[in-house]
Amino acid sequence: MVEKGKVIGISYNLKVDNGETGMQQWENVPENAPFLFLAGSDSVFPKFEASLLGKSVGDSFSVFIDFENAYGDYFEERKTIIPKANFKQEGKKNQDMLRVGKVIPMQDEKGNQIKGEITKIDYLGVHMDFNPPLAGYDLSFEGKIISIRDAEPEEISHGHVHGPGGHHH
Ligand SMILES: [Zn+2]
Repeated sequence: MVEKGKVIGISYNLKVDNGETGMQQWENVPENAPFLFLAGSDSVFPKFEASLLGKSVGDSFSVFIDFENAYGDYFEERKTIIPKANFKQEGKKNQDMLRVGKVIPMQDEKGNQIKGEITKIDYLGVHMDFNPPLAGYDLSFEGKIISIRDAEPEEISHGHVHGPGGHHH
């Protein structure tokens, strides 16, 4: 059964809705390449894990998570314009990254890594959006439990899954 300390493999289809565009297809994880996570390690949304608890291999699930319990609200102030010159300083390679749709890892004032997507490039500079891609979206998962196994002690101490579909280090 799905419970704390087990490595769970799931397939799922994810549809998302931000209330404006209606329900959109977002991601499909097939049964032959399941998503693996360590239950009890905070690696998936708590509401998601809670709805899988007690299920067995072969069971299907259907989970709705409103945006407050997923990636949170969309914040206008997480959009910013960065001068093109700031990218030039980093060298030629970064200049090549300047394309709309490109996601670039950067650091905030506190030194945390945050990812920003380039939404526009114009005379003002590079317009970037640091909201998570699914900020403001409700999530609807339809899926199936593919595998359940005991986690290795090392996986529990690291707080993540090792091996195929997990961390390699
Ligand atoms: Zn590890």
